[in-house]
Amino acid sequence: MQITEIYKSLQGESTYAGLPCVFVRLTGCNLRCTWCDSEYTFQGGRKMTIEAVREEVRRLNPTGGLVEITGGEPMLQEKEVVPLMERLLDDGYTVLLETSGERPLARVPADVVKIVDVKCPDSGEADTFRMENLAALTPRDEIKFVLSSRADYAFACEFIQKHRLAERVNAVLFSPAFRKDATGARDSSHCLLDPKELAEWILADKVPARLGLQLHKFVWDPAVKGV
Ligand code: SF4
Repeated sequence: MQITEIYKSLQGESTYAGLPCVFVRLTGCNLRCTWCDSEYTFQGGRKMTIEAVREEVRRLNPTGGLVEITGGEPMLQEKEVVPLMERLLDDGYTVLLETSGERPLARVPADVVKIVDVKCPDSGEADTFRMENLAALTPRDEIKFVLSSRADYAFACEFIQKHRLAERVNAVLFSPAFRKDATGARDSSHCLLDPKELAEWILADKVPARLGLQLHKFVWDPAVKGV
């Protein structure tokens, strides 16, 4: 499979935020979100076998714990990534899969925690969520909306209500989008939507969602990769 990088850091998003995690970042994406901070994954990378990836994960974290499969869009390499996730589960890791929701998820092993984006209008990739993926969601999974505006917020609220998402998954995450060229200050000034404003909307509307901030962008310079 084609791999951009494998590294150990703290998990920055989801209900696992703050925990040590090995990230396996696959190369390539078929979407082009306006605020994407992973454009460096679109090309390049190096070919690795499933066994080589597994060995590198073991080297970085020999005692188990979290492994996140991410990208790019990892499910573009489904043929290799599904057996990789099975091997990592066999090795005793808790496996997270971060995916755009555009690729079919039916073949993802049931014990994997899927963190699935639903792209909002301002991402420029609205309507790419594959509706049949709703049936593949389990109570361990998480659904994430990255929001840039009030219009995105309204879209997300309607979507979770229409599809009763809060009843289907472990968490519905609302996360303000970050400017993709952000650098320097490690604070919310780079957010395209003010987290305070979003928090107030969530409280006022009693939305069954969890406010998520990208923790790593408040710990390290937002421009730094591999953290
Ligand atoms: S799906 Fe993810 S990697 Fe692909 S363009 Fe959107 S944010 Fe970037």
